[in-house]
Amino acid sequence: MTACKASKNARRNSISNLASRIKRINIQIKGILLLAESGEFVLAKKIPKFDYKRHIREVYKSIRRQFEFRARTREEFEAWQLAFRPKLREALGLTSMEEDLQGHIPKAERAYSTDLGDYIREKWYLWVEPTVPLPFWLLKPKECKGRLPLVLTSHGHNHPDLYVGITYSEHDEWSIREGERDIAVQAVREGYIVIAPTARGFGETIDETEKEKGAVSSCRSELKHCLLAGRTPIGERVWDISRLIDWATKRSDVDPTRIAITGNSGGGTTSLFSAACDERITVAVPSCYFCTFVGSIGTIFHCDCNYIPGILRLGEMYDVAGLIAPRPFCAIAGKHDEIFPIEHVYEAFRKLKHIYEIAGVPERCELYVGEGGHRYYKKGAWPFIRKWFNLQPT
Ligand SMILES: [Zn+2]
Repeated sequence: MTACKASKNARRNSISNLASRIKRINIQIKGILLLAESGEFVLAKKIPKFDYKRHIREVYKSIRRQFEFRARTREEFEAWQLAFRPKLREALGLTSMEEDLQGHIPKAERAYSTDLGDYIREKWYLWVEPTVPLPFWLLKPKECKGRLPLVLTSHGHNHPDLYVGITYSEHDEWSIREGERDIAVQAVREGYIVIAPTARGFGETIDETEKEKGAVSSCRSELKHCLLAGRTPIGERVWDISRLIDWATKRSDVDPTRIAITGNSGGGTTSLFSAACDERITVAVPSCYFCTFVGSIGTIFHCDCNYIPGILRLGEMYDVAGLIAPRPFCAIAGKHDEIFPIEHVYEAFRKLKHIYEIAGVPERCELYVGEGGHRYYKKGAWPFIRKWFNLQPT
């Protein structure tokens, strides 16, 4: 074959290849147009934009809540609680903790005691797990005869000592002055025995690595590691409250029929979930927490320790609070609380009031709205607790 003939053949092959590529592209374009015409997709007129907030609102709306309150009689209400409470405990990781820690007997150790004039403040540790010496303060009025009601004061995202009036900064002092956060001191001056526990992830229970970075808490590590172990930070805090009640109710100076729990923000979270899970708590007063999950932690940035996997598939926050009925419940809220918005508090309260109505005790469900923001309001707590402590529980 001459060089000229070979060159002609190569050109012919190249033209033929090009023609078949054009044919393939034509077939693909025709295919795309046919698919578009058949409705499998439409040709984009502009680039689609993802709106996360809209998406998550739709996700929340589509969820079916297994224990959404639908009871119409007291009997149905009781059956609803009996079915819901074990599922909530499971979601919190409490069932797993019970299995893992079977046979563990918590030991209490008193570290030191301080006389503060009208009351005694003691520092204690309770071994709530074989590896967890949980620090707590015990406050007791000096004038004390017989058994006294017990108040547990669970704290939020602040130093655990703030509730007993110990301050380390000007901000701490402001926090007590403007936000009435010396809640344990208020309680002992009301004449009650008080336990002010450390929330895990705070104070002496903070992870060392986080402490070195100057963090107030190690909630994020706690949440991530809890998830691996089938636990939750809220579940661990509820566990600790129950172990403290086990211990306290064996004391000769505590009245086991009158136990209240109150705390602000994260302390409100612990108060609400502890009372929902542990029926020995007779009065619950969460502050600046009671709201809807969707309207607060579901749409506004909150600390990692608030989250319970799949909680919305069980119920909304008012359903969880419904597990406290018929025991007295008062939600304290701040009119200008930006992280637990008041319109969602009202919405949640309407739903909870309905549960108390079906339970036959609407007068035991109250809402106190303070004029300020995200803080404690003692006027919402102590008159309510006093009123219901004076009655024998049903
Ligand atoms: Zn947290």
